[in-house]
Amino acid sequence: MNVDVLIIGGSFAGLAAAMQLVRARKKVVVIDANSPRNRFAEASHGIFCLDGKTPAEIRATALAQLRAYPTFELMEDSASAIEPSPEGFTATTERGQRLIAKRVILAMGITDSLPAIPGVQERWGKTVIHCPYCHGYELSDRSLGVLATSEMSFHQAAMIPDWGATTLFTQGQFKPEGDTLQHLLSRGVTLEHSPIVEVLGTDADVEGVLLLDGRTVPIQGLYVGPRITLTSPLIEQLKLEIEETPLGSIVKVDAMKESSVKGIYAAGDLSNPMQNGTFAIASGTMAGVAVHRSLIFDE
Ligand SMILES: Cc1cc2nc3c(=O)[nH]c(=O)nc-3n(C[C@H](O)[C@H](O)[C@H](O)COP(=O)(O)OP(=O)(O)OC[C@H]3O[C@@H](n4cnc5c(N)ncnc54)[C@H](O)[C@@H]3O)c2cc1C
Repeated sequence: MNVDVLIIGGSFAGLAAAMQLVRARKKVVVIDANSPRNRFAEASHGIFCLDGKTPAEIRATALAQLRAYPTFELMEDSASAIEPSPEGFTATTERGQRLIAKRVILAMGITDSLPAIPGVQERWGKTVIHCPYCHGYELSDRSLGVLATSEMSFHQAAMIPDWGATTLFTQGQFKPEGDTLQHLLSRGVTLEHSPIVEVLGTDADVEGVLLLDGRTVPIQGLYVGPRITLTSPLIEQLKLEIEETPLGSIVKVDAMKESSVKGIYAAGDLSNPMQNGTFAIASGTMAGVAVHRSLIFDE
C-alpha cells in the first residue's frame, strides 16, 4: 500500500500527529501494537481536559475522532522492518503487510527498566510510581518513599514532601552530600541507607519495605525513577542518531521533530527529554505539522 505518511505507534504522540495530517487531507496509516507506556495505570492525570480518563478511553476517543476523516487508517500490527526506498521508505509488519510512505513518523515510545526488587513491577503505575504530577495527588498524605536509582532521585525526593512525609532510600549507593543533603533535610526528607530488598503489601497496595538489615519501614507509596531504553529495532535499521539524557537514550531530533535521517520524524517519549502525555501530544502535533510542510516545500 502507498501512503503519504506512515506513523509507527498509535498512542498520544502518533495519534496527535495523525490528526494534523488527516485534516491536511493526507493519506495516513498508523501502525500500532497497542502497548502504551501507561498501560499499567488505571487512569491518566494532569492532561488538559482528560484528567482521570483511562488510557483505553483516551485511545478510543482519539480513534473515533480520527476515523471521521476518510484518509485515516489504523493497522493493529507491529512494524518489524523499515528501509529507505525510491519513493521514501518501505516498512513491513509482523503480519506481512508492506507499506510505502513518503514520510515516516516514529512514535513507538520507550521501555521502562525497573529495579529487580520483588514487589516493584506488580505495583508499577498504582502505588509504585515515577511521576508525581501523574499519580502523586492520589497518594497524598501518606508515608512515601523514594527508591534512589541515580542522583536524579535526589531531585525527586526534594519534591515529594509536597505530597507526604518522605524517606529517601539511598540503597547505600546514591548518598546526597553538601548543599543537596542540606536541601533535602530542610525539606524534611528522612534518609535510609540500608538497601530495600523487597516491597511489601497486599495486591496493588504498598504497605512497607523490607531492608537488607532486617528492618521494615512502613510506607504507602514508593517513587522509582526507571531507566528508559529504546528497544525498537527500527531505530538501528534506520541508523538514527541517539542522544543521551539523565534518564537514558532518546532519538535525536531538531525543533521540527525531524531525526538525523531526512524524511524520518520522531515524536513522544521516544525523542522527548521531558516525558508525559501532554508533551507527547505536543511533539506529535509538531511532527504532524512539520511533515505536512515538508511534503509541500521539500518535494
Ligand atoms: C505507569 C505510568 C503511568 C503514567 N501516567 C501518566 C499520566 O497519568 N499522565 C501523563 O501525562 N503521563 C503519564 N505517563 C507517561 C505517558 O504514559 C507517556 O509520556 C506517554 O504514553 C508517551 O506517549 P507516546 O505516544 O510517546 O508513547 P506510548 O504511549 O508509549 O505509545 C507507543 C505506542 O507505540 C506502539 N509501538 C511500539 N513499537 C511499535 C512497532 N514496532 N509497531 C507498531 N506499534 C509500535 C506501542 O505498542 C504503543 O501503543 C505514565 C507513564 C507510566 C510508565
